[in-house]
Amino acid sequence: MSAPETSTIFALSSGQPPAAIAVVRLSGPAAMTAARALTTRDLPAPRQAAFRRFIDPATGETLDEGLLIIFPGPRTETGEDMAELHGHGSRAVLRGIETALERLPGLRLAEPGEFTRRAFVNGKTDLASIEGLGDLLAAETALQRRAAMAMMGGALSRKIELWTTGLRRLAAEVEARIDFSDEGDVEATSALTGFGDACVAIADDMDADLSKPSADRLRDGVRVAIGGPPNAGKSTLFNRLIGREGAIVSPIAGTTRDVIEASLAIRGIPMVIADTAGLRGATEDAIERVGMALAETLIAGADILLWLGEGRAAPETDARIIQVAAKADREKERRDGVSVSALTGQGMDELVEMLCDTAQSLLPMPGDYALSRRQRTALQRAAVSLRDAAGLEDDILIGECLRQALGALDELTGRATTDAVLDELFSGFCIGK
Ligand code: GDP
Repeated sequence: MSAPETSTIFALSSGQPPAAIAVVRLSGPAAMTAARALTTRDLPAPRQAAFRRFIDPATGETLDEGLLIIFPGPRTETGEDMAELHGHGSRAVLRGIETALERLPGLRLAEPGEFTRRAFVNGKTDLASIEGLGDLLAAETALQRRAAMAMMGGALSRKIELWTTGLRRLAAEVEARIDFSDEGDVEATSALTGFGDACVAIADDMDADLSKPSADRLRDGVRVAIGGPPNAGKSTLFNRLIGREGAIVSPIAGTTRDVIEASLAIRGIPMVIADTAGLRGATEDAIERVGMALAETLIAGADILLWLGEGRAAPETDARIIQVAAKADREKERRDGVSVSALTGQGMDELVEMLCDTAQSLLPMPGDYALSRRQRTALQRAAVSLRDAAGLEDDILIGECLRQALGALDELTGRATTDAVLDELFSGFCIGK
């Protein structure tokens, strides 16, 4: 993919100082020389921690003491020679070690995600797994962690490999058919009955993955909007749900002119809950009108709408609607939906349970991976090309469609990905990863 790296990179791979322990990693052709220069003694046996003093080669001063581990390539994370210095996590120690390393020939501080990028370039991992790793590092909830682990563990990579193998086989069949037809052997085409079905079967399998919840919801949270006419009790419910005074509650209609949002995890499920301005027919107030327009947009884009309708129908939306009969402590007549009093807390458990069940159904199953937008777009293209291939008669065109589908899969794994895509992906990583 590119020429072997001549530079050796290093970076703090553990948390920012001050910390009990700091791990500085090195990767590249000069990793071993650098490790020896900093510790003066012989290198320990591969992959075995040895106690060493860390010395500034320029001055001979002892900077710190700790553990040295060496990992000779190519059986390493990056595929290159690697070393780790486990020292004390103070700023002064780190500055000393980094300065000493920087002065050594061929060494420089790593860029964000550069270790991972080298692993990718050296064929140690593919993009799907790297995206899983990125998600894992960013995971805040257990659900996010599980989906990230599935992706990082190669669940999607294995699926892509399976599709790629199937597609290559089909492509080879088409090639053969083209060759035969050159020789005027018409009979050979009969061997291909079922070819279209095979294409469709793979496309169906891809579509099944595409129909699963995307990673966006898992990463950004399920979007929940609280809607209804003014004074329905939306802000009170919002506050109750987020468990603090996040929105202004007042008896004057139209108080919530703006949209107030809260990001939180309820029972481990990431959600973004929005309190919206009350929707009513008409208002003189220009600011309130803006608030209402915003509320409409929010409700239209929500995944779940908690509708405090007071008998009115919910607006047009693709969101799952949960009808809420609010102010249950006061309104005694029977109304549609879950009876809730945000004031007394009555019915809140039931509402939260419904909300969580609905939100859960919009998220990946525990342990299943979730496709990112980038992955979805590529997979969609692969599935469309395959269906095109299934519907065509002309072998040359079929071959082209299959090539496109394979190309889209290669983008997923990174076999064919532009530098711009890689730059974007790795820049999201922290230095030292
Ligand atoms: P919004 O305009 O829909 O956001 O409504 P608010 O949350 O500001 O509530 C409007 C009024 O109804 C306020 O005076 C609240 O105290 C009152 N209210 C809200 N929820 C309840 C409830 O569950 N029970 C009772 N009795 N009053 C409520």
